[in-house]
Amino acid sequence: MNPPFLPFTRPSIDEETIAQVCAVLRSGWITSGPQVKAFEAELSAHCGGRPVRVFSSGTSTMEVALRLAGIGPGDEVITTPLSWVATANVILAVGARPVFVDVDPATRNIDLNRIEAAITPKTRALLPVDLAGLPVDRARLYALAERHGLRVIEDAAQSFGARWNGRPIGAEGDFASFSFHPNKNVTSIEGGALVLPADIDPALAERWRLQGVARSGFDGMEVDVPGGKFNLTDVAACVGRGQLKRLEEFTSRRRHLARTYFDTFDLDLGCDLPVMDWQNCNWHMFQIVLPQGIARPAFMQAMQERGIGTGVHYPAMHLFRLYRDLGYGPGMFPRAERIGAAIVTLPLFPAMVDADVERVCAAVRDSITTLKTQGPT
Ligand SMILES: *Cc1c(COP(=O)(O)O)cnc(C)c1O
Repeated sequence: MNPPFLPFTRPSIDEETIAQVCAVLRSGWITSGPQVKAFEAELSAHCGGRPVRVFSSGTSTMEVALRLAGIGPGDEVITTPLSWVATANVILAVGARPVFVDVDPATRNIDLNRIEAAITPKTRALLPVDLAGLPVDRARLYALAERHGLRVIEDAAQSFGARWNGRPIGAEGDFASFSFHPNKNVTSIEGGALVLPADIDPALAERWRLQGVARSGFDGMEVDVPGGKFNLTDVAACVGRGQLKRLEEFTSRRRHLARTYFDTFDLDLGCDLPVMDWQNCNWHMFQIVLPQGIARPAFMQAMQERGIGTGVHYPAMHLFRLYRDLGYGPGMFPRAERIGAAIVTLPLFPAMVDADVERVCAAVRDSITTLKTQGPT
């Protein structure tokens, strides 16, 4: 009998959370309400007491952060080409220009050594991404931002539960944006959270979140900004609260499974493995970069035939038509392009056991060996 198909990720929702969701559904208040307030308070406690507001997604959090930072037409925002396309799309959404800087091949995050060369008089902010939950060096990042008077919007969509200097990501810094999409380490089905810096009024963040509306008294209403429709429901917040309780358990489980990958993976296959970081990374994903000569679609198909799901996170986004139309193109960020064309996400989620990791590693070895003997197709 074949073992069941192993997806690359799967959320772990416990029965207690499901029961609490049912209670919310029966309560008569299902959209933004007391669950949202409680979730925000718990997230704030996790982030060292800083103000946190939750949103309908980790995309809306970043769009609002850019608006709160006053970024718009004529401004440039420096970011990485190797991320989920939301990272750059939100820069365009506020009318600014994304300026890509190539990645460091080891961390696969924005290369901090190359940022300074990309700064112009129009640069207003840095928008780094902690790919796979490996934090960008915060000390160097904030030194750069300070030297050039730039704001920082941390796209920490993947690094919830990761650490820097022993403190959780989000506990220090300028804006930090988290996503609670089902693939992320903690989920609210869909959702996101924005950690706010001290100079930003949380009430303004709330207005950008919901149509710009401010209410007062019994019937007072005023609107001062063209806010979006970015509020989180109480049902979603309830799921998020149930997940947040298990953050440490999830993170340590992921770390253990990542160690098992390193212990089991056949290094002779010629794949690039992630940076071995046991201090900071939350192990959101375990990603390999395939060796030259192994075509990714063929590899993914071979893995699927062996009962293993894989993912691609992500193709270099400056090669998408939207960004080519802005003047970007092949050859401009060769490291991101090479990684983006050969990176594969292997299964990693808390409900996996060591035997699953061993099965994945065996399937990787078998697939690559088979594809090598077949030669290029
Ligand atoms: C998931 C993700 C986002 C967007 O989050 P959503 O909640 O899906 O809107 C943004 N950036 C990165 C790096 C992500 O992984």
